[in-house]
Amino acid sequence: MLSSTEEIKAKLDIVDVIQEYFPLKQAGVNFKARCPFHEEKTPSFMVNRERQFFHCFGCQESGDVFSFLQKMENIEFPEALKILANKAGVKLPEYNPQMANLKTRVLEMQAVAMAWFHNQLLNSAAGQKALSYLKDKRKLSAATIEEWQLGYALDSWDALSQYLKGKNFTHQEILQSGLVVPKERSQDYYDRFRDRVMFPIEDYHGNIVGFTGRTLKEDEGAKYINTPQTAVYNKSEVIFGLYKAKAAIKDEDQVVIVEGNMDVIASSGAKIKNVVAVSGTALTVEQIRI
Ligand SMILES: [Zn+2]
Repeated sequence: MLSSTEEIKAKLDIVDVIQEYFPLKQAGVNFKARCPFHEEKTPSFMVNRERQFFHCFGCQESGDVFSFLQKMENIEFPEALKILANKAGVKLPEYNPQMANLKTRVLEMQAVAMAWFHNQLLNSAAGQKALSYLKDKRKLSAATIEEWQLGYALDSWDALSQYLKGKNFTHQEILQSGLVVPKERSQDYYDRFRDRVMFPIEDYHGNIVGFTGRTLKEDEGAKYINTPQTAVYNKSEVIFGLYKAKAAIKDEDQVVIVEGNMDVIASSGAKIKNVVAVSGTALTVEQIRI
């Protein structure tokens, strides 16, 4: 998910923003002008459109569109953010301490759950069939299983939720985490993922925001189930594997898009790192501009 500042920068061109103050002259890949921040006769203020960055070779002022506006208008960052959000048509999230706190707790819970699932996979007797599925059937190495922190959810209605309670997560927090399913007409819940191989889902910044669980039962109707929408997980905003693939995509200037999470993990095990999965994702230009 793009942050507000990333979204604003994707929508605004620093060249246009600066030209609302004074004209720029194109000079090769750069644009130049006399520097607004120091006195000079020959232009040494350069703007690079590709990098969305300005730099003055005279006074060494430099930065992005936010620092330009702060300096130009003599304002602090929050004010520059408001002005540029308005210009870009980006709606800034209203700060809500209770919501921010819930998000933090739900994120913490995903990380705790991931470690628990991973430990069950490697160290529990029940996890052995899941481990054998990953190693023997899917041919994943121990290193790949480690890198992706794959796990196993026990065949139990409350093993995970009991564990989370023991880690001081409240009933309400657990209810909001996506890790449990609320029971009808009650405030109670049961574990969503049971007897499944667990694939943690990372957001663009590397936070664990949810899971995909693959059943190990042959007769189970739903082969894969996912975390539903929560305060931290929105399926249409997450591209599986993107966080780990970012560097390789930049290096190779190319991205390979596959259907399933397992394809991403198997490719990564085969040292092909610029791979992401987009099953059911509404892929937008903003998401792939990295
Ligand atoms: Zn200057």
